[in-house]
Parts: sequence; C-alpha cells; structure tokens
Amino acid sequence: CGIVGYTGPKQALPVVLDGLRRLEYRGYDSAGVAVLPEPGADGLAPDAVQQTAKKAGVLANLTAYVDTGAVSLAGRTGMGHTRWATHGGPTDRNAHPHTDRSRRTAVIHNGIIENFAPLRTELENSGIELASDTDTEVVAHLLGAAFDTGATAGDLAASMAAVCRRLEGAFTLVATHVDAPGVIVAARRNSPLVVGVGEGEMFVASDVAAFISHTREAIELGQDQLVVITPDGYKITCFSGGEADYRTFHVDWDL
Ligand code: GLU
Repeated sequence: CGIVGYTGPKQALPVVLDGLRRLEYRGYDSAGVAVLPEPGADGLAPDAVQQTAKKAGVLANLTAYVDTGAVSLAGRTGMGHTRWATHGGPTDRNAHPHTDRSRRTAVIHNGIIENFAPLRTELENSGIELASDTDTEVVAHLLGAAFDTGATAGDLAASMAAVCRRLEGAFTLVATHVDAPGVIVAARRNSPLVVGVGEGEMFVASDVAAFISHTREAIELGQDQLVVITPDGYKITCFSGGEADYRTFHVDWDL
C-alpha cells in the first residue's frame, strides 16, 4: 500500500527504505525493493538481472535481511513497496516487486487488477509459469513481453501504456527494466501517484510523505496517465498516447 521510486545520483536503497518508513502509517503485511544493476567498465553484464529483496511482515524484516548483505542492491535507480495483500497470502513469494521470466523487468503495484484471471490464463497458455498468487505478476510478464518485441520494443513508457490499456481495475504501477538504466515508469488509474521533482534527482510515490525530506516540488498525475522519470526530468502522457493534463504543486505543509 506504499510505493516509492528514486532515480538520481545517490544510492537508491537507503532513499527508498526511508520513503517506505514514512509511508508505514498506511498499514501493510510485506515489503520489498528492486534496484537496477549498473554497468561496470565493460558495460552491463549480458546476464544482468533485477536486484530484488522481499520479505513478509514488517519493514524491519526486510531491512534486517538487506543488512545481512545476502543480495547486492547497489545502484542509483530503485523502487520499494509495502503490500496490503488482496490476491495471494502475505508471503515472501507474493511480496512485490514481481519480475518477468527474464528477471529484467520489475513491477510494483497498489490496488487490484480486476481482469487478472483471463490475462493469467493467456500467459499460462503461452507457456509462462507464474511464480506468485498475485494479480500483479501478470503485469510484469506483459510488460516484459511488450518491451522485448513488437511495436513498443525498447520503449518502457510505450510498453507500459500498451499494457495499461489492457488492464481493468484500480492501480498505481511502477516499473523498471535492466535495459533502461536510470529510468522509472509509473502509471495510475483510480489510485494515487505523485512525482517529486528534485535537483538532479526524481521521485515517484503514492504519497508526498515519501519524498518531502528531499523535495517539496510535486506533481499529481491525472486519471489514466503515466510518467517517465530520469535524474534530469520527467514526461507525462495519457495511456492513449495523448497530451496529459496534470497538476504541479508545492508542498508547504509539514507532516
Ligand atoms: N493486489 C496486489 C496484491 O495483492 C497489491 C496489493 C496492494 O495494494 O498492496 O499483491
């Protein structure tokens, strides 16, 4: 029920975990993070995948696990989620982020994908085995496929717009792809999404509380809109591809 994404010059993990802590009041039963791997001297390793950690229970379970150093979570683009389970029990496996088969696409979600059952069947018929019991996981597979092939190949925003047009229900979705370094895409329908505009760094969140210790310049997305953020800026469009009408504001209250 809490969502935060960061891209900028800092290590993403502490920024994301701090943001999740500030959203704890929303209530949740599991938590998870995904951080994009960064290229070494020879570029990105060909077998590079999403770096993720997810744990059922309180956020402290996740931070304790992360602190063991069992998984590498170094990188400057990342996102985190606290889950309030609606489909599938509160387990490590069902915690977000969810990834596609290649583990190069990662997705977090607040809300409910009402038509996940037919989408799941479609994926299973194409030979994809789902790794969780959530409604969310279908989005990771559909997005991975849209990014890999077809009209939207290589374009994460266009891929997300195409996937969102197929979804019914309420959702805030945030996604990253290993082959789109520094990029976060977020989309909303019937569920909140705000952008935080920093200097040389950008945020997305379900609530400004996640980022006001970094920036108070914010944007509220309209219905059926999506945003792409990179460290130096943002672009907002409609799922239909058309021009978007959104609201910019300054957070002048304290939380
Ligand atoms: N429906 C999704 C799930 O059960 C997301 C729930 C949420 O909003 O945290 O995993």
